[in-house]
Amino acid sequence: MKIIHNFSAGPAILPKSVLKQAKKELNYGIKYGISILEISHRSKEFIKIAEESEKNLRKLLKIPKNYKVLFCQGGARTQFSAIPLNIINKKNIKADYINSGYWSYSAIKEAKKYCIPNIIPVKYFINNKISILPMKKWKINNNSKYIHYCPNETIEGISIKEEPNFKNKIIIADFSSIILSYPINIKKYDIIYASAQKNLGLSGITLIIIKKSIINKKNKYIPSTLNYKIISSNKSMFNTPSIFSWYLSSLVLNWIKNNGGVKKIYKINKQKSNIIYNIIDSNNFYINNINFKNRSIVNITFKLKNKYLNNLFIKESYEAGLMFLKGHYIFGGIRSSIYNAMSFKSVKKLADFMIYFSNRYS
Ligand SMILES: *Cc1c(COP(=O)(O)O)cnc(C)c1O
Repeated sequence: MKIIHNFSAGPAILPKSVLKQAKKELNYGIKYGISILEISHRSKEFIKIAEESEKNLRKLLKIPKNYKVLFCQGGARTQFSAIPLNIINKKNIKADYINSGYWSYSAIKEAKKYCIPNIIPVKYFINNKISILPMKKWKINNNSKYIHYCPNETIEGISIKEEPNFKNKIIIADFSSIILSYPINIKKYDIIYASAQKNLGLSGITLIIIKKSIINKKNKYIPSTLNYKIISSNKSMFNTPSIFSWYLSSLVLNWIKNNGGVKKIYKINKQKSNIIYNIIDSNNFYINNINFKNRSIVNITFKLKNKYLNNLFIKESYEAGLMFLKGHYIFGGIRSSIYNAMSFKSVKKLADFMIYFSNRYS
């Protein structure tokens, strides 16, 4: 059988051992041939999975006690609305929205329905390379309720690695594509959210890590299923959760724990991404026009200098078993997503293919 390497941006690769465990669960079940998918989310069997996932997540990300962990539905896009609804919910209130790319801009478009977003552009060019302004140069407004930004722009492969340090501001960040890929200091944030299908399992579940002190407001006009207060007091089970996604996330969290935790994963992620960036940089066949400091370690984007070769690259790589390298339809080019579950072996395969292709066609 041909070995396939999965560079999909999301839903994305899952650890092999996680899939194996899930298959076993479906075949043999928790007991008497009943699988975890067929029982109540309030059963002790499922509660155990829910509690274990929270415990593991808290350990892996060192989440302090004054933060709540919520498992919601609707993906990150639902949070684009839930955040202004929960934190502001008055149309004439302002919030600072950093614009660094596709996803942060999508959050802005949605926020306009619920508040007045101050759009703060942070992208600029040095020597033809896309760079992100350092945080101290961000034009934050005194009268804004919070700052929203996206640390990893999944589509462009742009990353903001600096930790936020703004006095007396609520900080909210969309970590969808980079959660659990590098250690973060939770205390620097008030809300972190992430849809699961990139680094945490399947679509259908959205992680929220939120400082308790900002959940306290109860606003009766927010849909209950989006209301942090209601979700939190119902232990993320106000409505029936997506149990398969939650179960899968519990397996992924266990896998990260058994693989040495986030620090170790980060070290490996850096090594993996360096393999690809080194080939791009040592070769003027490929171009990545993102400043070194702002390059993503999980979504590596590049184009071929000869633009007529992009499609051939995608076609031939696909035939070689390197799948889903086609860039986002808006931006074109190539995107290799190398999330936590991606092995060194697959990254090396891509590296070898890139070298072969540039030798053959340059
Ligand atoms: C994938 C992604 C989203 C969208 O997630 P959905 O689950 O489709 O709503 C939002 N933000 C970022 C940074 C993403 O990578």
